[in-house]
Amino acid sequence: MKAMVYYGDNDARFEERPRPEIIEPTDAIIRMTKTTICGTDLGILKGKNPEIEQTAIEKTGSFNGRILGHEGIGIVEEVGSSVKNFKKGDKVVISCVSRCGTCENCQKQLYSHCLNGGGWIMGYMIDGTQAEYVRTPFADNSLYAFPDNLDEKAGVLLSDALPTAHEIGVQYGDVKPGDTVAIVGAGPVGMGCLLTGLLYSPSQVIMIDMDDNRLAMARQMGATDTINSGKENAVEKVMELTNNRGVDCAIEAVGIEPTWDICQKIVKAGGHLSNVGVHGKPVNFDIQKLWIDNLTITTGLVNANTTGMLMKTCCSGKLHAEDLATHTFDFDDIEKAYDVFKHAADQKAMKVMIDL
Ligand SMILES: [Zn+2]
Ligand SMILES: [Zn+2]
Repeated sequence: MKAMVYYGDNDARFEERPRPEIIEPTDAIIRMTKTTICGTDLGILKGKNPEIEQTAIEKTGSFNGRILGHEGIGIVEEVGSSVKNFKKGDKVVISCVSRCGTCENCQKQLYSHCLNGGGWIMGYMIDGTQAEYVRTPFADNSLYAFPDNLDEKAGVLLSDALPTAHEIGVQYGDVKPGDTVAIVGAGPVGMGCLLTGLLYSPSQVIMIDMDDNRLAMARQMGATDTINSGKENAVEKVMELTNNRGVDCAIEAVGIEPTWDICQKIVKAGGHLSNVGVHGKPVNFDIQKLWIDNLTITTGLVNANTTGMLMKTCCSGKLHAEDLATHTFDFDDIEKAYDVFKHAADQKAMKVMIDL
């Protein structure tokens, strides 16, 4: 089968690989029908995750590449002997987080820290979804039956982008009716925070980014105010828009120091700062100024414990996740898709869909 395989820094190859087989009785093999590229995949290609090679070498003595991708939908091709909820031919959404369902952390819904080899493993510790077929561990707990009235693009976004935005941005940020919210970073996850944040009826959502196209898209999707932080002083502008109070919730959706810094300067007393961005480097944390403000500061990896709820919200027509999909490519053109996603702002791209 064809697959997009990571070999090292800036080295991804679209090549022929053997089809995956059932290893554990709880596995399923899925024939992929739609997948996508995540900012995390670009991070891997930039060398942010050297543990991929290190772990493979520790376990097997060598590293022969890793198929990328942890998002997508497909059709069940084969199931292991203990899989009860799915059978060949079922259409499914694949969660980016695999979970055994029985360990201490899974019982606390801390699925991203599954103690039995689950968590975020696809396209990372095991082969992923940017392939014609993928092996999904713990299939009963990690796949979702695809509802008839779910948009397929929305289905792909339910793998990771939407639950990450909702759980780590909006829920950890404790967004409530009437709140003032600022989202720093209008990429797919920031936009996901906007779409899922609006479900809670905040009174004001301020989107901050350096790209005017993305800000225009945010306004179309319901942001009340936008700030181009490349042209304006974002902190001053947020204060102006909030009568010098600051926001109830600031969501960091980039993962670099300047965007973190905006967030830590705009939260009002008693407010929340939820960090969703994946940081490659330390940041300056103004604890000497912030301690007095009774803030809640959170961060984390998606547990995908709200995927089912978000799926129903998509089906009901209240969450138009499919609007985030701006481009579609054939699987044979996945290298082109990577190129467009790498230059997303210039290409006016948000989420790129890949059809198999
Ligand atoms: Zn992802
Ligand atoms: Zn577990």
